Amino acid sequence: MERVTVIGGGLAGCEAAWQLARRGVAVTLVEMKPAERTPAHAANGLAELVCSNSLRGASLGSAVGLLKAELETMGSLLVAKAKGTAVPAGRALAVDRARFSRAVEDAVTSHPLVSVERGRAIALPSSGRVIVATGPLTDGKLAAALAGAGAMLHTHDAIAPLVDGASIDPAATFRASRYDEGEDGGDYLNCPMDEAEYHAFVRALVEAEKTPLHGFESAPFFEGCLPVEELAERGPLTLAHGPLKPVGLTDPRTGRRPFAVVQLRQEDAAGTAYNLVGFQTRLTRPEQERVLRTIPGLEKAAFERYGEVHRNSFVDAPRVLDERSRLRSDPRVFVAGQLSGVEGYVESMASGLMCGLFAAAETLGLDVSLPPPTTALGGLLRHLQRPGSGFQPSNVVWAMIETRPRTRGEGKRDHRENAAKQALADLGAWIDAHRALFSA
Ligand SMILES: Cc1cc2nc3c(=O)[nH]c(=O)nc-3n(C[C@H](O)[C@H](O)[C@H](O)COP(=O)(O)OP(=O)(O)OC[C@H]3O[C@@H](n4cnc5c(N)ncnc54)[C@H](O)[C@@H]3O)c2cc1C
Repeated sequence: MERVTVIGGGLAGCEAAWQLARRGVAVTLVEMKPAERTPAHAANGLAELVCSNSLRGASLGSAVGLLKAELETMGSLLVAKAKGTAVPAGRALAVDRARFSRAVEDAVTSHPLVSVERGRAIALPSSGRVIVATGPLTDGKLAAALAGAGAMLHTHDAIAPLVDGASIDPAATFRASRYDEGEDGGDYLNCPMDEAEYHAFVRALVEAEKTPLHGFESAPFFEGCLPVEELAERGPLTLAHGPLKPVGLTDPRTGRRPFAVVQLRQEDAAGTAYNLVGFQTRLTRPEQERVLRTIPGLEKAAFERYGEVHRNSFVDAPRVLDERSRLRSDPRVFVAGQLSGVEGYVESMASGLMCGLFAAAETLGLDVSLPPPTTALGGLLRHLQRPGSGFQPSNVVWAMIETRPRTRGEGKRDHRENAAKQALADLGAWIDAHRALFSA
């Protein structure tokens, strides 16, 4: 049986390789780490989370919660490992990134049908099926090869800083999740600000020095991951209604809701490091130290990682990919993950899973259709086919998922939870209809 080559051992590539191998298809997984790393990757393991350690909402009422549930139903390796390495994060699923990466790497590399080749791929293999999953920071000759196959587009994405847990002042912060979710008094450390502190902080963000965008100024920022200073520039209260919103939080020392709150999310089970939630930034490093140390509780913060901005690349999916994420110009080549035009960790896993499944079906000579449009998986793939100009990567959202109209008196939350149940039932029926692929 023909081997499949997967280029890139990130979230999409590892999931794709696993889906192929578990169906008996041999895989060569090409990963350039540790010899070379993209500017956003900091570790040597496979399946590295480059910024936040959160896989976002876990409830079925959120589109990404439904997507995770569907991935679990489909036998996703990465969602299983994420659940096995979870850290407290209220209603979100967040992981210990080092343990998560190790767990995925151990599973993938110990599979007898996966052989891992370490080194940079500089061209597409001339024969055989290929899944390109080199991520948003794909560059060099491989990017040029893909650009030759169709238009490459660009956007900007930013990373939030990490601070050493021991350097946070416990007396100035309080532990709580919004609306008392989570156990043991809450999963987040909260840095409360009064009105004067908040406005001084917003001014400092706006006036601080930023790193230049290296000649790619025309590429827009991804709206779902805007740098904190860009939000601050949109208006004095934008942050107070956004990542710093105090809703559902009461400061136990005052018994009142603070004017604004910076939330810190635990990075690992031991709490040795904390992520500043929503604080992706392109402030220069000295400015990050100066401005972020004005946040109550972070006066002596030791930075384990600084925020940064990167230019993301992705293909113009509606133009260059078919409905199975294959290049129209060369259908033996699948494009998976963020490079295919999906946005986010979970969406990249989902794209990798589907490309692995499609490539496995073709290799095994089995029929496969797209998952139903009522599912998050089906909606996400169909989004990549939506015609029109100005294609931009997108997180999974309810608007992509086909739902029946709301019935009279049915609240939005109930409607979404019912739609999620329907999606899982439809996915179950779709899996039954592809039994050969799921029992292979
Ligand atoms: C700066 C930044 C911050 C982000 N923050 C978040 C966030 O907080 N939350 C979120 O949900 N999403 C975030 N994203 C978006 C996206 O979800 C991640 O980039 C995600 O990791 C994409 O998964 P992937 O598998 O497509 O690519 P990656 O996870 O980047 O994996 C690509 C892999 O391919 C390897 N590789 C690259 N080129 C080659 C080559 N030529 N040969 C061999 N190997 C190669 C890389 O070393 C890497 O291991 C961020 C993206 C960026 C760039």
